[in-house]
Amino acid sequence: MLSVQQQVPLLKYNTLALPSTAEYFCKVSSESELQEALAWARQKQLPITLLGGGSNVVLASDLAGLVIYIAISGIELISEPNQAEKLIRVGAGEDWHQLVLYTLQQGWYGLENLSLIPGLAGAAPIQNIGAYGVELSDRFHSLETIELSSGQSITMTLEDCEFGYRDSFFKGAGRDQYVITTVNLKLSAKVNLCLEYPALQQYLKAKTLAEVTPQQVSDAVCAIRRSKLPDPTEIPNAGSFFKNPVISSEQVETLKQKYPGLVSYEQADGRKKLAAGWLVEQAGWKGITSSGVGVHDHQALVLVNYHGTGKDLLSLAGDIQASVLDKFGVSLEIEPRVYCK
Ligand SMILES: Cc1cc2nc3c(=O)[nH]c(=O)nc-3n(C[C@H](O)[C@H](O)[C@H](O)COP(=O)(O)OP(=O)(O)OC[C@H]3O[C@@H](n4cnc5c(N)ncnc54)[C@H](O)[C@@H]3O)c2cc1C
Repeated sequence: MLSVQQQVPLLKYNTLALPSTAEYFCKVSSESELQEALAWARQKQLPITLLGGGSNVVLASDLAGLVIYIAISGIELISEPNQAEKLIRVGAGEDWHQLVLYTLQQGWYGLENLSLIPGLAGAAPIQNIGAYGVELSDRFHSLETIELSSGQSITMTLEDCEFGYRDSFFKGAGRDQYVITTVNLKLSAKVNLCLEYPALQQYLKAKTLAEVTPQQVSDAVCAIRRSKLPDPTEIPNAGSFFKNPVISSEQVETLKQKYPGLVSYEQADGRKKLAAGWLVEQAGWKGITSSGVGVHDHQALVLVNYHGTGKDLLSLAGDIQASVLDKFGVSLEIEPRVYCK
């Protein structure tokens, strides 16, 4: 039975712990409850905002209309197309990291590099989560959505989702039009590790293991992440605040003449990806605090909230973007979804 509350504080529903209030708020734990919530908002002509773990949002104002927290659970093996392949169906409200741990316990491999990413499974396709050399799209089969305007169920394939680097159809043409209810993943009973990422390679090499298992990769990823990123429950943050910019190789060569330490990674299309954290650090922002928000003192890519507001955070982000553009001629794009009236 759907229960809608009014004027609900969202501080504990976003990992930046930003103050924001939902005009109306409900949690949906099944597809039928979701349909009820959508019909309720449609009948009242209210805008809808979807919320998962709140780990990739900047709430810079109150949210008008109905905020729907997606709590649809369930992890199920749906088919084994061949001996090795495991096709699993995951409810959008499942905690992502718990899902990774569960699949490893079952002997369904492939998600180990994506350990400890905060948030819920339903949001993973939105920005095609990625870490340590693997992206969701590498393990993705399909997903099930409900179109907000019509309430119609639509299944989308890998192609439909138009995944890119921290990008998908849901950030472009499909923005704010669909609720993801289920994500179907293609995992494997066969171990096929992805160990190319330098930090992961170094960590595992130092352990001098005879044979590396998927669980050890997951443990390694967790240990590296814990050493590098602030825990949002201790210092509120949304992970990487800026996307790593991708620029032409000519521009990289020009910049390298002036900044020999510039970090860049070759892309499939011949362009190069820069490390946004390096640019922010070189522009002098690491550890800076202003109006209750700041840049983390160990990781310049992470903006943190001590006791500020979303607007304070966006103001700091704007200053950082302007200074990086001025120094390097490179535009930084904010990675989390910004909600601001
Ligand atoms: C410490 C930290 C580390 C992080 N590290 C990484 C990382 O390594 N790699 C990476 O890619 N990301 C990383 N992130 C970002 C974040 O964890 C991911 O983007 C995650 O997928 C967000 O999930 P969420 O449930 O919290 O989404 P939310 O923040 O709740 O929502 C994000 C967006 O998705 C939409 N949305 C949520 N659920 C649904 C749904 N079911 N259907 C349709 N739309 C929906 C929301 O409306 C919103 O626009 C990190 C964040 C933190 C705080």
